[in-house]
Amino acid sequence: MADIWSEALHGLEPRLDRQTFDMWLRPIRLASVDGDLLQLRAPNRFLKEWFETHYLDLALDELESRHERKFKVAIEVVEEAPPEPTELSRPHLEIVVDHPATRPTTHQVQQPAGPPRGLHPRYRFDSFIKGGCNELAASAAMAAADEPGTRFNPLFIYGGVGLGKTHLLHGVGYELYRKDPNLRIVYLSAEQFMNEFVTAVRNNEFDQFRARYRRDCDCLLIDDIQFIAGRDRTMDEFFHVFNALYEAGKQIVVTADRVPADMAGMEERLTSRLNWGLVADVQPPDLETRIAIIQTKAARDDLELSPQVALSIAELVRSNVRELEGALLRVTAFAQLRGVEIDAEFVRSVLGKTATDKPPITIEAIQKAVAAYFSVKISELKGKRRHRGISRPRMIAMYLCRQLTGSSFPEIGMRFGGKDHSTVINACKRIEALAQADEDLHAAVESLRGQLAPRD
Ligand code: ADP
Ligand code: MG
Repeated sequence: MADIWSEALHGLEPRLDRQTFDMWLRPIRLASVDGDLLQLRAPNRFLKEWFETHYLDLALDELESRHERKFKVAIEVVEEAPPEPTELSRPHLEIVVDHPATRPTTHQVQQPAGPPRGLHPRYRFDSFIKGGCNELAASAAMAAADEPGTRFNPLFIYGGVGLGKTHLLHGVGYELYRKDPNLRIVYLSAEQFMNEFVTAVRNNEFDQFRARYRRDCDCLLIDDIQFIAGRDRTMDEFFHVFNALYEAGKQIVVTADRVPADMAGMEERLTSRLNWGLVADVQPPDLETRIAIIQTKAARDDLELSPQVALSIAELVRSNVRELEGALLRVTAFAQLRGVEIDAEFVRSVLGKTATDKPPITIEAIQKAVAAYFSVKISELKGKRRHRGISRPRMIAMYLCRQLTGSSFPEIGMRFGGKDHSTVINACKRIEALAQADEDLHAAVESLRGQLAPRD
């Protein structure tokens, strides 16, 4: 007979999308039951914490509704051996596997001169502010640096400009370097990768190129992979590099401005591999995160800023963190030039005229507006109830997310309680069709659109 926990998981399975379920719930096992207390086991700390913050309530609800009584849960971490790398589908693939035992001795005695090439000491984890907008990406980056090559391999981080992707990528490199200065960490942009590849081919140095990326590399950090989309030979080479490293259990972290599936011109076999591990997004920072970032940056540069000033900068600059840093710099530079104290009024006078950026429309903002408009709860929008009074607003919210934020279908699905991308696609089609026939619905959609994205 299945145990009480497996039964609950079984009940939850249809309510979550497969990836979410396999990633965060399936690995949690039952160790023992003592009355109302379930002792569970998670394979690592990251998974335990993520499960606790995101899925535990759901699991407790499920248990309670099955057994009509409340349960408690305690989770311990029991480390598992790292998973075996997956069998690759191309049998004729040429793979240079770097086993420590077969490494030439020069590698063992060779002391690296300093931090890995290209890494900037400013971009470490300790200067990265975590918030709801980047929580998964940041936690996964830290976990990848903790246990490289095991979980979250590859780790794929995507999102708009200035939202911290490069920072996190450097952070992984720095953390790995800090723990083991002998680790061969290779960091570069996809553009540099392409340039080096082209040069290597031209100069007949392909063996060195191949050794550098496929053999002498313990961790590969590639920034802005979208750059190689459509560049067939570079994609082909990257594919081989990926396979060689993955097969050897080496950590790969990749960033991009969008999800793999949305990269036009990217080979299918490559996008599928980029999806093998964890795909995590970074979103524009919310107000609290923006304030925290300003305060941290100011403290780092020995600037004194009152909370009021931090708040007024955070309110005026919303689009991304790079803009935020620029704004802080502008404000302090002007203040020094004019020899005045910085206060909220001064911030407005400096940034008010130049703050051209409109607030970005976020998925959260859309959910909030739609929930308020139809008097439903945000949790209902993210939930599973199919009642029309809820499913209509949910579909409208999904449709507006696609229209106004340009987020991908899988991403929207994830933010609506982990729904499948096909659900989102269907919702968008339904709303488009309904809006043609149903005037009330059309008016509601347009009113929400006007409220969320007012025209100047
Ligand atoms: P992206 O690669 O996504 O375009 P970057 O990583 O280059 O963005 O970030 C732009 C700037 O913003 C960098 O100076 C980075 O340190 C800073 N930054 C971004 N996100 C954060 C964050 N969460 N905490 C602290 N600084 C951040
Ligand atoms: Mg970047």
